[in-house]
Amino acid sequence: MTKLNFLCTKCRKEFDSDVGEISFPIEENRPRFEKDIVCPKCGILTMDEAELTELGQTQLGAVFFAGLE
Ligand SMILES: [Zn+2]
Repeated sequence: MTKLNFLCTKCRKEFDSDVGEISFPIEENRPRFEKDIVCPKCGILTMDEAELTELGQTQLGAVFFAGLE
């Protein structure tokens, strides 16, 4: 399981969400998550409704580089 830190664009709250396996399809310009992003207040969010925070981007980058090894 992989937790990433997101900002919900609906309630503007930051939260951690377990997104499961993360893959980086080369044909898409965004990563693909196994599980839905779930805001504790708003429920399931689409990728457009959730923004990665700076911490979340760092966490995602770590997963990406770990996968390259
Ligand atoms: Zn929310």
